[in-house]
Amino acid sequence: MSALVQDPITLENERGSSPPQSQIDQLAGAMALPLGDSPTPASGYSGNVERSTPAHAFLEHSTSILFPILFVPNVYFSFDRLYDLELLWLAALAIPLALVLGDFIGGLVHWAADTYFSEDTPVVGPALIKPFRQHHLFPRDICTHTFVSIVGNVCILAVPVLTVCLYVLWVTDHGLLAFATLCTTLMAAATVATNVFHKWAHQEQPSAGVRLLQRTRLVLEPQHHQVHHTAPFEMQYCITNGWLNPLLNKTGFFRKLEAFLRFLGIEPTNGENSCDNPRI
Ligand SMILES: [Zn+2]
Ligand SMILES: [Zn+2]
Repeated sequence: MSALVQDPITLENERGSSPPQSQIDQLAGAMALPLGDSPTPASGYSGNVERSTPAHAFLEHSTSILFPILFVPNVYFSFDRLYDLELLWLAALAIPLALVLGDFIGGLVHWAADTYFSEDTPVVGPALIKPFRQHHLFPRDICTHTFVSIVGNVCILAVPVLTVCLYVLWVTDHGLLAFATLCTTLMAAATVATNVFHKWAHQEQPSAGVRLLQRTRLVLEPQHHQVHHTAPFEMQYCITNGWLNPLLNKTGFFRKLEAFLRFLGIEPTNGENSCDNPRI
C-alpha cells in the first residue's frame, strides 16, 4: 500500500454494487492528501518524464493556441445572436448546463479509459488509456506535467468541434442553434479545463485561489476525488467538478452501462496493463 493513500474503510468490492453516499463521504473526509512527500514512486510520483512524439507535441501546441482563438468568437457570436433574438436568458441556462455536460463527458471518457481497451490499443492506447491507468499508480505525476501536455490532448478534439460551431453560427441565424453552439463551446472549455482541475486536486499545496474554487465545489475537490483512487476504484469518474458523481454512484450508472456492454459481448479490460498492479 503506498504512502499516498491509506484505506481506512474497506468498501464492498463487487461490480454492480456501490457503497452508500454516507460511506463515500466518510471515506472522503478521511482521505486528506499528505503534504511534503518527496518525489519518489512511493509518494505518488514515478520519477519518470513522459514526452510526446514530435507530431503529437505539434498537435498539442497548435491546438492549444487555436482553442482560445476559436472559443472567443464562438461565445461572442452566440451571445450576439441570442441578444438579437431576445433570447439572452438562454445564455444563463447554457452555463450550468455546459458545466454538467462537461463533467458527464469527462466522466464517461474517464470510465471508458479505465474500464475498456488497453494500453496497446492503436491510437487511443498510448494517447488516452495509458495516461489514465498510469495515473492510478502515480497520481501525483500529473502535477509535474506542463500546461500544454495537460490540456493538449483535449484541445486536439475540441478544436474541430469549435470550428464546426463557428461555421454553424456563420451559416444560420436560428436561436436554438445559437444556444446549442454556446452550450457546446462552454462544454468544450469545461472539458479542456478538466485536467487542470484534476491536477489541482492532486497538488500538495494548491494556491489560496484554487482552494477557494475547490471548497465552493466549482472545480474538483481533492477529498471528493480521492475516493476514485481508493478501493474498489469504481466511483467518482467525473473529474471536472464532480457534481454528477453522487447521482451516478447512487443510480449505479456505470455498473449498468458495463452490464449492458457485457450483454453485447464487450468485456471490461481494466485488469490489464498498468491496472494489473494493485493501485494501493
Ligand atoms: Zn481513473
Ligand atoms: Zn486523479
